[in-house]
Formats: sequence, C-alpha cells, structure tokens
Amino acid sequence: MKPLAEELRPKNLKEFIGQEKILGKDSLLKKAIEEDGIPSMIFYGPPGTGKTTLAKIVANITKSHFEELSAVTSGIKDLKLIVERAQLNKRLNEKTILFIDEIHRWNKKQQDVLLPYIESGLIILIGATTENPSFEVNAALLSRVRVFTFEKLEEKEIEKIIKRAIKEKNIQIDKKAIKFLKEMSNGDARVALNILEYVSSLSKNIEEKDVKEAFQKQNLYYDKHGNEHHDLISALIKSMRAGEENAAIYYLVRMLEAGEDPLFIARRLVVFASEDIGLQNSLALSQAIDVFHACHYIGMPECRLNLIQGVVYMAKSKKSRKLYDAYNNALKDVEKYGNLKVPLHLKNVKTFLNKEDYAGFLPEKIKNKKYLS
Ligand code: ADP
Repeated sequence: MKPLAEELRPKNLKEFIGQEKILGKDSLLKKAIEEDGIPSMIFYGPPGTGKTTLAKIVANITKSHFEELSAVTSGIKDLKLIVERAQLNKRLNEKTILFIDEIHRWNKKQQDVLLPYIESGLIILIGATTENPSFEVNAALLSRVRVFTFEKLEEKEIEKIIKRAIKEKNIQIDKKAIKFLKEMSNGDARVALNILEYVSSLSKNIEEKDVKEAFQKQNLYYDKHGNEHHDLISALIKSMRAGEENAAIYYLVRMLEAGEDPLFIARRLVVFASEDIGLQNSLALSQAIDVFHACHYIGMPECRLNLIQGVVYMAKSKKSRKLYDAYNNALKDVEKYGNLKVPLHLKNVKTFLNKEDYAGFLPEKIKNKKYLS
C-alpha cells in the first residue's frame, strides 16, 4: 500500500495547491509549459511544499519521460544509465525530464557531469534543493538553469490538503485536532499527511491529544527551525566545550541521521573554533574551515567523517573564551561611550604632537581599559 502522502500527490495543476508566485497566470513556468519549452530548472524551497510533485506534473503535461534520482543515494553511475535511456527516448522523438532531489548534495564533479546533457538538450533537469542554490549549486550548473523559489505552504493551504485527505479516506477528526495538525506541520504537507495517516490508524475519532501524541511518538518531524534542532546543536556545542568528546559524537550522529544539513554543523564548528578555542590553539580555526570545505565539496554521506574529525578535534583541543569575552567587554564601552575621538596621532594625517598631548592608543576616556584578560 502506498503511503497517504504518495496516494494523494496531485496529478495535475488543478489539484496542486499554493505556490502562486511560480504558477500564477503570467508566470514564466506557466508559459513554458504552454509552449512546451520547459527549461532546465532548480526548485528551491522547504520540504513538503510540492517540488517533486510539480516536477512530475510538468513531465505529465509535456508528455516527457520522468526519471528520478536522489543526490543523497545515487551518483554518476546511476546518471549514466539514465543518459542511455534518454538517448533512446530522443531517437523516438521523446523528451526526458530528470528530477534530482537534494541536488546540492552532489559535489562539484558530480554536478559537472550533468552539464553537456543539459547543454545539448538531451536531458531537461529539474533539481530540487532545500538550500540556497546560489551557495550550494556550482556556478556552471546554476548558469544553465532557472531557479524557482517555493514557499512554505500557508496554514490555510495545509488545511485544504488535510481536508481533501479526510474526505477521500473518510477520516473522523475534530476541528481542534485539525487546527493543531496544520499548525504543527510547519508548512510541510508531507508531515501533515504522514501524521494524519499515523493517527488515523490508531484512533477512529481523532482528537487534538491524539495528534499531539503522534508528533511526539513518531518523531517524524525534525524541524529544521524547531526545538529538536536547537536542543541538539546546543548539546553538541556544550559537549565540545566541556571536552566530552563521546557526548559530542553522539549528538553529531543524532543530527546527521535526522537529516541535518552538514554545512549547518560545519559552520558552527567554524564559530566554535574562535569563540571557544581562540588563540589557545589557533589551528582550530583552520581545521574548522577545512571541515567546512570538505563538507561543501564532498557532501553526505562521506562528509560525516570530516565532521566527526572536526567535532573530536574541537572537543579535545585546549579552550579559551578570552577572545569572545574581550569582544563583549569592548562592545560594552562602544555602546556606552559612542563615537569617542580616535587619538590624534593614530589618525591618518601627519600630526605634530605637543608634549602634553595624549599619546595612548585607546581614546583618552577609556585609556586604561583592558578587554583581553
Ligand atoms: P517536496 O517539496 O519535498 O518535493 P513533495 O512534492 O514530494 O515535496 O510533497 C510531498 C507530499 O505532500 C505530496 O505527495 C503531496 O501529497 C503533498 N503536497 C506537497 N505539496 C503540495 C501542494 N502544493 N499541493 C498539494 N499537495 C502537496
């Protein structure tokens, strides 16, 4: 049996909800569909907002073959097989749309392999990504595609999707439960439908408490901006700070296995290297930047090893928060005293100092301040 979200996946534009910016009357995409001139594209936006769905609909309308890859689990070999099929299709005068989910997870080399096929029109690429393509998709590929930005679905749009499911599957659920479900789904239709499917398998008359419980139990929902995400990154940082490398490793693995973006963690390591280690071990910053670059170029799953290296390095390194404290100490004075005059002899002009002129380096008012302990 298909999961509910899959079963209810809209099959045409009529059933597709929201994303008016992309699909409005005079939109580029609408016109391209009508004129049967679909360009290669990147769909950028949060999960469960219709990226895969729209790609499938477009393939349907334009009578193209639809091929699908996930950049997380497939590579160049899989791509080559699709290219062979696309060549066959072309001989029969048929188009091939290749949908690549999480395209940002492919490294530069993998993304580069796509270029000639896009260029020659053998393949129409539709890449989906939750990360800003300006940073995460390499420039050569980016210059050959059009980027369309998907918005989180609004609560009233999620509600429509929930209501359709209730009707189709004859589900009994009260108003409060629907309200809770649409709020907690955070604009992600897949989450809304998965939870609904799960609760409806457990109870005949669904109430708010059932939905609440389902969210807790299923732990389905790893909200990139929600509590779990913040709790785990906070636990990771505190463990590294305390030199508890085993705990740090545990939280790292929890995050990655839940689908956290490796670059988000790598960025936090870069911050940590200066905030918590600083000049006690100034190599930590280079190590963190190297980890970041490695994650950027390699992607998951391999870059988890770069991350664990970074995390253990940070946890075991000597620590000092002196730079962090110094910044904040100085910040207090900057805020308190406003624009104090820079001592004359430090200004970028030739000056002749008299003996009695102040020749310190800090402004006179705070001349004895020590920020760095
Ligand atoms: P993603 O943006 O992650 O590719 P999908 O398009 O796979 O999301 O959506 C997952 C499921 O959520 C679909 O199978 C469909 O049931 C529902 N869904 C997502 N977006 C929409 C939408 N805009 N209108 C109606 N249903 C949607």
